[in-house]
Amino acid sequence: MTNIIFIGPQGSGKGTQAKILAEKLNIPHISTGDLFRGLTKGPLKEEVDANINQGKLVPDELTVKILKQRISNPDCKKGFILDGFPRNLDQAKLLDNIAKIDKVIEINISDKLAIERISSRISCKKCGAVYNTITNPPNKENICDQCQNELYRRADDNPEAIKKRLETYHKETKPILKKYQSILDSIDGNQEINKIAEQILEKTR
Ligand code: AMP
Repeated sequence: MTNIIFIGPQGSGKGTQAKILAEKLNIPHISTGDLFRGLTKGPLKEEVDANINQGKLVPDELTVKILKQRISNPDCKKGFILDGFPRNLDQAKLLDNIAKIDKVIEINISDKLAIERISSRISCKKCGAVYNTITNPPNKENICDQCQNELYRRADDNPEAIKKRLETYHKETKPILKKYQSILDSIDGNQEINKIAEQILEKTR
């Protein structure tokens, strides 16, 4: 059983890396952001979107409920990778009641690079693939290489929301790392995707 958490600022590449590692270890990649974006239309989705689009966190109670449901799925029996959860100390404490965490990977980048990367990020709504129009563009403009779906810019990838999300990361998410000190490895996120993936694999073997 390997339960792994990925922590890093927006644009650090944690989603990309979590996907790569999940495939290598054959365990699911669980992104709370993706779970929220995948909700079907209705009052719950409206409440969630109102927070997300302003760059605010979704209330803990709601987030934990959705996460708990997801990790009770049988595909998580052999382990899972959490991307975007926990985002604050309260969530980390609540997670203690749901699962035992074996490893935490932090991916570090500067705020300047985070803003540059998020500003040029485009993603696929269908398969979740993420591209960067400058450093990692799709083969065909605005079309997903993997599923040929049209790519889109996330509503929360606008300058005000990015600023707010980075502030929240430093104020609320980064302090969690102390709690996981004994199982934590930090990786420099300003390297090639494959190089980072190799380093992460080494730390999780
Ligand atoms: P992400 O895809 O990880 O960048 O998440 C997008 C947005 O979803 C965040 O800016 C939050 O509004 C919300 N979100 C994702 N994960 C969490 C979480 N663990 N707690 C609260 N809100 C979250």
